[in-house]
Amino acid sequence: MSLDVRTIMLVFSALTLMFSGLLALVGRYTGNVKGVGHWALANLLMASGFAFSYSFSTTLPNQLLWPIVAASVLIVSGLCLQYAGIQRFKEKPINWKFVAIAVAAIFFSGIWFTGIHNNVTNRAIVNSIVFGIVFIACARELLIPAEAPLRIAYWLTGISFGALSVLVFARAAILWQSSTESYGLFQNIPINPLTFLGICLLQFSTMFGFVLMLAYRLVGELAKLASQDPLTGAFNRRRLEEEALRVQARSIRTGKPMAVMMIDVDHFKTVNDRFGHQVGDEVLKHVAKIIETTIRADDYFGRYGGEEFCILLPSTAKDEAYAMGERLRQIYADTSYLFDGQHIHSTISIGIADSADVGTEFKTLVQAADKALYEAKQAGRNLVMQHASVAMFA
Ligand code: GH3
Ligand code: MG
Ligand code: MG
Repeated sequence: MSLDVRTIMLVFSALTLMFSGLLALVGRYTGNVKGVGHWALANLLMASGFAFSYSFSTTLPNQLLWPIVAASVLIVSGLCLQYAGIQRFKEKPINWKFVAIAVAAIFFSGIWFTGIHNNVTNRAIVNSIVFGIVFIACARELLIPAEAPLRIAYWLTGISFGALSVLVFARAAILWQSSTESYGLFQNIPINPLTFLGICLLQFSTMFGFVLMLAYRLVGELAKLASQDPLTGAFNRRRLEEEALRVQARSIRTGKPMAVMMIDVDHFKTVNDRFGHQVGDEVLKHVAKIIETTIRADDYFGRYGGEEFCILLPSTAKDEAYAMGERLRQIYADTSYLFDGQHIHSTISIGIADSADVGTEFKTLVQAADKALYEAKQAGRNLVMQHASVAMFA
Protein backbone atom coordinates (compact mmCIF):
# COMPACT_ATOMS: atom_id res chain seq x y z
CA MET A 1 0.00 0.00 0.00
CA SER A 2 1.32 3.38 -0.89
CA LEU A 3 0.15 6.27 1.25
CA ASP A 4 1.44 9.76 0.95
CA VAL A 5 1.27 12.15 3.91
CA ARG A 6 0.95 15.23 1.69
CA THR A 7 -2.08 13.88 -0.17
CA ILE A 8 -3.78 12.79 3.05
CA MET A 9 -3.03 16.21 4.52
CA LEU A 10 -4.48 18.04 1.54
CA VAL A 11 -7.68 15.95 1.51
CA PHE A 12 -8.03 16.27 5.27
CA SER A 13 -7.54 20.01 5.12
CA ALA A 14 -10.16 20.42 2.36
CA LEU A 15 -12.74 18.21 4.09
CA THR A 16 -12.17 19.91 7.45
CA LEU A 17 -12.69 23.27 5.79
CA MET A 18 -15.99 22.05 4.30
CA PHE A 19 -17.01 20.76 7.71
CA SER A 20 -16.18 24.11 9.22
CA GLY A 21 -18.51 25.80 6.70
CA LEU A 22 -21.25 23.26 7.43
CA LEU A 23 -21.00 23.80 11.20
CA ALA A 24 -20.94 27.59 10.75
CA LEU A 25 -24.15 27.45 8.67
CA VAL A 26 -25.85 25.04 11.06
CA GLY A 27 -24.68 27.06 14.09
CA ARG A 28 -26.65 30.10 12.89
CA TYR A 29 -29.95 28.29 13.42
CA THR A 30 -29.38 26.12 16.46
CA GLY A 31 -31.08 28.48 18.89
CA ASN A 32 -30.04 27.74 22.45
CA VAL A 33 -27.51 25.05 21.63
CA LYS A 34 -24.03 26.35 22.41
CA GLY A 35 -20.59 25.26 21.22
CA VAL A 36 -21.34 24.81 17.50
CA GLY A 37 -19.58 28.08 16.63
CA HIS A 38 -16.50 26.91 18.57
CA TRP A 39 -16.44 23.68 16.57
CA ALA A 40 -16.79 25.59 13.28
CA LEU A 41 -13.85 27.83 14.20
CA ALA A 42 -11.89 24.81 15.49
CA ASN A 43 -12.19 23.12 12.11
CA LEU A 44 -11.22 26.32 10.30
CA LEU A 45 -8.06 26.61 12.41
CA MET A 46 -7.16 22.95 11.89
CA ALA A 47 -7.80 23.18 8.15
CA SER A 48 -5.59 26.30 7.97
CA GLY A 49 -2.88 24.64 10.06
CA PHE A 50 -2.74 21.61 7.79
CA ALA A 51 -3.01 23.67 4.59
CA PHE A 52 -0.19 25.85 5.85
CA SER A 53 1.87 22.82 6.76
CA TYR A 54 1.21 21.36 3.32
CA SER A 55 2.17 24.55 1.51
CA PHE A 56 5.69 24.67 2.93
CA SER A 57 6.22 20.90 3.16
CA THR A 58 7.42 20.56 -0.42
CA THR A 59 9.31 23.75 -0.86
CA LEU A 60 11.05 24.62 2.38
CA PRO A 61 13.39 22.74 4.67
CA ASN A 62 11.96 21.20 7.80
CA GLN A 63 13.89 23.50 10.10
CA LEU A 64 12.12 26.70 9.17
CA LEU A 65 11.07 28.22 12.47
CA TRP A 66 8.00 30.41 12.05
CA PRO A 67 5.96 28.41 9.53
CA ILE A 68 6.41 25.28 11.67
CA VAL A 69 5.48 27.05 14.90
CA ALA A 70 2.51 28.80 13.24
CA ALA A 71 1.15 25.56 11.73
CA SER A 72 1.35 23.61 14.98
CA VAL A 73 -0.11 26.48 17.02
CA LEU A 74 -3.04 26.69 14.56
CA ILE A 75 -3.65 22.95 14.89
CA VAL A 76 -3.46 22.83 18.69
CA SER A 77 -5.70 25.91 18.92
CA GLY A 78 -8.24 24.06 16.75
CA LEU A 79 -8.07 21.01 19.00
CA CYS A 80 -8.47 23.17 22.10
CA LEU A 81 -11.48 24.93 20.56
CA GLN A 82 -13.09 21.53 20.00
CA TYR A 83 -12.65 20.97 23.73
CA ALA A 84 -14.03 24.46 24.51
CA GLY A 85 -17.01 23.74 22.22
CA ILE A 86 -17.77 20.52 24.09
CA GLN A 87 -17.77 22.42 27.39
CA ARG A 88 -20.06 25.11 25.97
CA PHE A 89 -22.34 22.42 24.53
CA LYS A 90 -22.64 21.03 28.05
CA GLU A 91 -23.34 24.59 29.30
CA LYS A 92 -20.18 24.58 31.39
CA PRO A 93 -17.67 27.45 31.58
CA ILE A 94 -14.65 26.97 29.32
CA ASN A 95 -11.40 25.95 31.00
CA TRP A 96 -9.29 28.68 29.34
CA LYS A 97 -6.31 27.96 31.61
CA PHE A 98 -6.03 24.47 30.16
CA VAL A 99 -6.34 25.89 26.63
CA ALA A 100 -3.64 28.52 27.29
CA ILE A 101 -1.23 25.95 28.75
CA ALA A 102 -1.68 23.56 25.79
CA VAL A 103 -1.17 26.32 23.20
CA ALA A 104 1.82 27.76 25.08
CA ALA A 105 3.43 24.30 25.37
CA ILE A 106 3.23 23.81 21.60
CA PHE A 107 4.44 27.34 20.91
CA PHE A 108 7.49 27.14 23.16
CA SER A 109 8.43 23.59 22.22
CA GLY A 110 8.20 24.68 18.57
CA ILE A 111 10.59 27.55 19.19
CA TRP A 112 12.92 25.49 21.38
CA PHE A 113 13.23 22.43 19.18
CA THR A 114 13.26 24.32 15.87
CA GLY A 115 15.07 27.56 16.53
CA ILE A 116 17.30 26.88 19.54
CA HIS A 117 18.07 23.16 19.98
CA ASN A 118 17.08 21.83 16.63
CA ASN A 119 15.58 18.39 17.24
CA VAL A 120 12.64 17.46 15.04
CA THR A 121 12.02 14.13 16.80
CA ASN A 122 11.66 15.76 20.21
CA ARG A 123 9.35 18.39 18.77
CA ALA A 124 7.15 15.65 17.29
CA ILE A 125 7.14 13.82 20.65
CA VAL A 126 6.10 16.95 22.59
CA ASN A 127 3.41 17.76 19.99
CA SER A 128 2.03 14.22 20.21
CA ILE A 129 1.93 14.31 24.01
CA VAL A 130 0.17 17.70 24.15
CA PHE A 131 -2.34 16.64 21.46
CA GLY A 132 -2.90 13.41 23.40
CA ILE A 133 -3.65 15.33 26.61
CA VAL A 134 -6.17 17.55 24.79
CA PHE A 135 -7.82 14.42 23.30
CA ILE A 136 -8.06 12.86 26.77
CA ALA A 137 -9.63 16.08 28.13
CA CYS A 138 -12.26 15.90 25.34
CA ALA A 139 -12.90 12.20 26.00
CA ARG A 140 -13.33 12.87 29.72
CA GLU A 141 -16.00 15.47 29.02
CA LEU A 142 -17.95 13.02 26.87
CA LEU A 143 -17.60 9.58 28.46
CA ILE A 144 -20.15 10.38 31.16
CA PRO A 145 -23.63 9.13 32.01
CA ALA A 146 -26.20 11.06 29.98
CA GLU A 147 -29.80 10.72 28.89
CA ALA A 148 -30.56 8.61 25.81
CA PRO A 149 -30.20 9.25 22.91
CA LEU A 150 -27.61 11.97 23.60
CA ARG A 151 -25.58 9.34 25.44
CA ILE A 152 -24.93 7.44 22.19
CA ALA A 153 -23.54 10.58 20.54
CA TYR A 154 -21.45 11.48 23.60
CA TRP A 155 -19.94 8.04 23.86
CA LEU A 156 -19.23 7.61 20.14
CA THR A 157 -17.45 10.97 20.09
CA GLY A 158 -15.73 10.28 23.42
CA ILE A 159 -14.47 6.87 22.22
CA SER A 160 -13.09 8.53 19.07
CA PHE A 161 -11.20 11.04 21.20
CA GLY A 162 -9.95 8.21 23.42
CA ALA A 163 -8.70 6.31 20.36
CA LEU A 164 -7.01 9.48 19.09
CA SER A 165 -5.14 9.85 22.35
CA VAL A 166 -3.99 6.21 22.21
CA LEU A 167 -2.77 6.75 18.65
CA VAL A 168 -0.77 9.90 19.35
CA PHE A 169 0.74 8.49 22.55
CA ALA A 170 1.75 5.36 20.62
CA ARG A 171 3.32 7.63 18.03
CA ALA A 172 5.24 9.50 20.72
CA ALA A 173 6.44 6.18 22.20
CA ILE A 174 7.59 4.87 18.81
CA LEU A 175 9.47 8.09 18.11
CA TRP A 176 11.06 7.96 21.55
CA GLN A 177 12.37 4.45 20.82
CA SER A 178 13.40 5.17 17.25
CA SER A 179 17.02 5.70 16.40
CA THR A 180 16.22 8.20 13.65
CA GLU A 181 18.07 11.33 14.63
CA SER A 182 16.11 13.84 12.66
CA TYR A 183 12.51 12.85 12.39
CA GLY A 184 9.87 14.83 10.47
CA LEU A 185 6.28 14.28 9.45
CA PHE A 186 7.17 14.41 5.77
CA GLN A 187 9.93 11.86 5.94
CA ASN A 188 9.14 8.76 4.02
CA ILE A 189 8.89 6.19 6.82
CA PRO A 190 5.82 3.93 7.34
CA ILE A 191 4.84 5.29 10.76
CA ASN A 192 4.04 8.66 9.23
CA PRO A 193 1.24 7.96 6.72
CA LEU A 194 -0.24 5.21 8.90
CA THR A 195 -0.59 7.24 12.08
CA PHE A 196 -1.54 10.33 10.15
CA LEU A 197 -4.32 8.51 8.26
CA GLY A 198 -5.59 7.07 11.54
CA ILE A 199 -5.61 10.51 13.14
CA CYS A 200 -7.50 12.02 10.18
CA LEU A 201 -10.14 9.28 10.14
CA LEU A 202 -10.67 9.53 13.89
CA GLN A 203 -10.87 13.31 13.66
CA PHE A 204 -13.66 12.90 11.10
CA SER A 205 -15.33 10.50 13.46
CA THR A 206 -15.30 13.19 16.18
CA MET A 207 -16.73 15.75 13.73
CA PHE A 208 -19.57 13.39 12.83
CA GLY A 209 -19.97 12.85 16.56
CA PHE A 210 -20.45 16.60 17.06
CA VAL A 211 -23.13 16.69 14.37
CA LEU A 212 -24.85 13.71 16.01
CA MET A 213 -24.68 15.41 19.43
CA LEU A 214 -26.25 18.49 17.91
CA ALA A 215 -28.99 16.49 16.16
CA TYR A 216 -29.91 14.57 19.32
CA ARG A 217 -29.91 17.74 21.42
CA LEU A 218 -32.25 19.46 18.94
CA VAL A 219 -34.56 16.43 18.79
CA GLY A 220 -34.71 16.47 22.61
CA GLU A 221 -35.50 20.21 22.66
CA LEU A 222 -38.25 19.78 20.06
CA ALA A 223 -39.82 16.95 22.04
CA LYS A 224 -39.69 19.13 25.14
CA LEU A 225 -41.29 22.06 23.33
CA ALA A 226 -44.08 19.83 22.08
CA SER A 227 -44.89 18.54 25.55
CA GLN A 228 -44.22 21.47 27.85
CA ASP A 229 -46.18 24.55 28.84
CA PRO A 230 -43.82 27.45 28.03
CA LEU A 231 -44.89 29.62 30.99
CA THR A 232 -44.64 27.19 33.89
CA GLY A 233 -42.48 24.37 32.47
CA ALA A 234 -45.18 21.86 33.49
CA PHE A 235 -46.44 19.27 31.01
CA ASN A 236 -49.07 20.56 28.59
CA ARG A 237 -52.47 18.95 28.25
CA ARG A 238 -51.43 16.80 25.29
CA ARG A 239 -48.51 15.23 27.15
CA LEU A 240 -50.65 14.71 30.23
CA GLU A 241 -53.20 12.81 28.11
CA GLU A 242 -50.42 10.66 26.67
CA GLU A 243 -49.07 9.84 30.13
CA ALA A 244 -52.63 9.13 31.33
CA LEU A 245 -52.96 6.37 28.72
CA ARG A 246 -49.82 4.70 30.09
CA VAL A 247 -50.92 5.10 33.72
CA GLN A 248 -54.36 3.73 32.79
CA ALA A 249 -52.84 0.63 31.14
CA ARG A 250 -50.69 0.03 34.22
CA SER A 251 -53.66 0.50 36.53
CA ILE A 252 -55.73 -2.05 34.57
CA ARG A 253 -52.83 -4.51 34.47
CA THR A 254 -51.92 -4.27 38.16
CA GLY A 255 -55.41 -3.62 39.54
CA LYS A 256 -54.05 -0.64 41.50
CA PRO A 257 -56.15 2.56 41.55
CA MET A 258 -55.22 5.89 39.93
CA ALA A 259 -56.34 9.35 40.93
CA VAL A 260 -56.63 12.78 39.34
CA MET A 261 -56.40 16.13 41.10
CA MET A 262 -57.68 19.36 39.52
CA ILE A 263 -56.35 22.60 40.98
CA ASP A 264 -57.70 26.10 40.36
CA VAL A 265 -56.37 29.37 41.78
CA ASP A 266 -59.02 31.21 43.81
CA HIS A 267 -60.09 34.66 42.65
CA PHE A 268 -57.28 34.77 40.14
CA LYS A 269 -59.07 37.44 38.11
CA THR A 270 -58.58 39.78 41.07
CA VAL A 271 -54.81 39.15 41.02
CA ASN A 272 -54.73 40.04 37.33
CA ASP A 273 -56.94 43.08 37.85
CA ARG A 274 -54.98 44.43 40.80
CA PHE A 275 -51.40 43.74 39.72
CA GLY A 276 -51.58 43.21 35.98
CA HIS A 277 -51.36 40.19 33.71
CA GLN A 278 -47.57 39.91 33.96
CA VAL A 279 -47.66 39.58 37.73
CA GLY A 280 -50.50 37.07 37.25
CA ASP A 281 -48.10 35.05 35.08
CA GLU A 282 -45.47 35.14 37.81
CA VAL A 283 -48.03 33.93 40.35
CA LEU A 284 -48.86 31.00 38.02
CA LYS A 285 -45.16 30.10 37.87
CA HIS A 286 -45.08 30.26 41.67
CA VAL A 287 -48.09 27.91 41.91
CA ALA A 288 -46.39 25.47 39.51
CA LYS A 289 -43.17 25.53 41.52
CA ILE A 290 -44.96 24.74 44.75
CA ILE A 291 -46.91 21.89 43.16
CA GLU A 292 -43.75 20.49 41.63
CA THR A 293 -41.87 20.45 44.92
CA THR A 294 -44.80 18.89 46.78
CA ILE A 295 -45.79 15.98 44.51
CA ARG A 296 -43.98 12.63 44.35
CA ALA A 297 -41.40 11.79 41.72
CA ASP A 298 -43.71 9.44 39.82
CA ASP A 299 -46.72 11.79 39.73
CA TYR A 300 -47.44 13.70 36.50
CA PHE A 301 -48.21 17.36 36.70
CA GLY A 302 -49.47 19.57 33.91
CA ARG A 303 -51.18 22.87 33.14
CA TYR A 304 -54.65 21.98 32.02
CA GLY A 305 -56.01 25.40 31.09
CA GLY A 306 -55.55 29.08 32.00
CA GLU A 307 -54.94 28.91 35.74
CA GLU A 308 -55.96 25.31 36.18
CA PHE A 309 -53.50 22.55 36.88
CA CYS A 310 -53.92 18.80 36.86
CA ILE A 311 -51.99 16.10 38.71
CA LEU A 312 -52.14 12.49 37.65
CA LEU A 313 -51.37 10.12 40.52
CA PRO A 314 -50.52 6.52 39.63
CA SER A 315 -51.15 3.75 42.19
CA THR A 316 -53.06 6.18 44.39
CA ALA A 317 -56.51 5.87 45.97
CA LYS A 318 -58.79 8.80 46.78
CA ASP A 319 -57.92 9.06 50.49
CA GLU A 320 -54.19 9.12 49.85
CA ALA A 321 -54.76 11.72 47.12
CA TYR A 322 -56.89 13.72 49.54
CA ALA A 323 -54.10 13.79 52.14
CA MET A 324 -51.69 15.01 49.50
CA GLY A 325 -54.16 17.61 48.19
CA GLU A 326 -54.70 18.91 51.70
CA ARG A 327 -50.94 19.20 52.23
CA LEU A 328 -50.57 21.07 48.94
CA ARG A 329 -53.46 23.44 49.74
CA GLN A 330 -51.96 24.17 53.14
CA ILE A 331 -48.43 24.77 51.84
CA TYR A 332 -49.75 27.13 49.16
CA ALA A 333 -51.97 29.01 51.62
CA ASP A 334 -48.97 29.48 53.93
CA THR A 335 -46.70 31.00 51.28
CA SER A 336 -46.96 34.18 49.30
CA TYR A 337 -45.38 35.61 46.17
CA LEU A 338 -43.17 38.64 46.74
CA PHE A 339 -43.66 41.33 44.11
CA ASP A 340 -42.24 44.84 44.32
CA GLY A 341 -41.91 44.57 48.11
CA GLN A 342 -45.52 43.42 48.40
CA HIS A 343 -46.60 39.95 49.46
CA ILE A 344 -49.24 38.67 47.06
CA HIS A 345 -51.27 36.08 48.84
CA SER A 346 -53.73 33.72 47.18
CA THR A 347 -55.23 30.30 47.76
CA ILE A 348 -56.11 27.26 45.67
CA SER A 349 -59.09 24.92 45.55
CA ILE A 350 -58.68 21.26 44.70
CA GLY A 351 -61.02 18.57 43.38
CA ILE A 352 -60.10 14.87 43.49
CA ALA A 353 -61.42 11.74 41.80
CA ASP A 354 -60.11 8.17 41.64
CA SER A 355 -60.55 5.15 39.41
CA ALA A 356 -62.39 3.13 42.07
CA ASP A 357 -65.25 5.61 41.75
CA VAL A 358 -65.38 6.52 38.07
CA GLY A 359 -63.09 4.11 36.21
CA THR A 360 -59.66 4.59 34.65
CA GLU A 361 -60.69 6.76 31.68
CA PHE A 362 -58.73 10.04 32.00
CA LYS A 363 -61.53 12.16 30.54
CA THR A 364 -64.02 10.82 33.07
CA LEU A 365 -61.56 11.24 35.95
CA VAL A 366 -60.96 14.88 34.96
CA GLN A 367 -64.70 15.49 34.67
CA ALA A 368 -65.30 14.03 38.14
CA ALA A 369 -62.39 15.94 39.69
CA ASP A 370 -63.68 19.12 38.02
CA LYS A 371 -67.05 18.56 39.58
CA ALA A 372 -65.43 18.16 43.02
CA LEU A 373 -63.47 21.34 42.36
CA TYR A 374 -66.68 23.18 41.58
CA GLU A 375 -68.07 21.98 44.91
CA ALA A 376 -64.95 23.24 46.69
CA LYS A 377 -65.51 26.66 45.11
CA GLN A 378 -69.16 26.64 46.11
CA ALA A 379 -68.25 25.70 49.67
CA GLY A 380 -66.08 28.81 50.06
CA ARG A 381 -62.73 28.09 48.27
CA ASN A 382 -59.31 27.24 49.77
CA LEU A 383 -60.70 23.70 50.15
CA VAL A 384 -60.03 20.14 48.97
CA MET A 385 -63.08 18.09 47.89
CA GLN A 386 -63.29 14.46 46.90
CA HIS A 387 -65.64 13.45 44.19
CA ALA A 388 -68.73 11.64 45.40
CA SER A 389 -69.74 9.15 42.70
CA VAL A 390 -73.43 9.39 43.52
CA ALA A 391 -73.46 13.13 43.01
CA MET A 392 -71.63 12.88 39.72
CA PHE A 393 -73.99 10.49 38.03
CA ALA A 394 -77.15 11.63 39.71
P1 GH3 B 1 -62.45 31.35 41.07
O1 GH3 B 1 -62.04 31.48 42.49
O2 GH3 B 1 -63.89 31.09 40.91
O3 GH3 B 1 -61.62 30.40 40.32
O4 GH3 B 1 -62.23 32.79 40.48
P2 GH3 B 1 -61.25 33.20 39.36
O5 GH3 B 1 -61.16 34.69 39.35
O6 GH3 B 1 -59.95 32.50 39.50
O7 GH3 B 1 -62.04 32.72 38.12
P3 GH3 B 1 -61.54 31.85 36.95
O8 GH3 B 1 -60.90 30.63 37.47
O9 GH3 B 1 -62.68 31.67 36.02
O10 GH3 B 1 -60.48 32.87 36.34
C1 GH3 B 1 -59.63 32.54 35.36
C2 GH3 B 1 -58.78 33.76 35.10
O11 GH3 B 1 -57.44 33.36 34.82
C3 GH3 B 1 -59.27 34.51 33.90
C4 GH3 B 1 -58.03 34.80 33.09
O12 GH3 B 1 -57.89 36.16 32.90
C5 GH3 B 1 -56.91 34.30 33.94
N1 GH3 B 1 -55.88 33.62 33.15
C6 GH3 B 1 -56.03 32.54 32.39
N2 GH3 B 1 -54.82 32.21 31.82
C7 GH3 B 1 -53.92 33.13 32.26
C8 GH3 B 1 -52.52 33.32 32.03
O13 GH3 B 1 -51.85 32.59 31.30
N3 GH3 B 1 -51.94 34.37 32.63
C9 GH3 B 1 -52.66 35.22 33.45
N4 GH3 B 1 -52.00 36.21 34.04
N5 GH3 B 1 -53.97 35.07 33.68
C10 GH3 B 1 -54.60 34.03 33.10
MG1 MG C 1 -59.74 30.42 39.45
MG1 MG D 1 -60.28 28.68 36.35
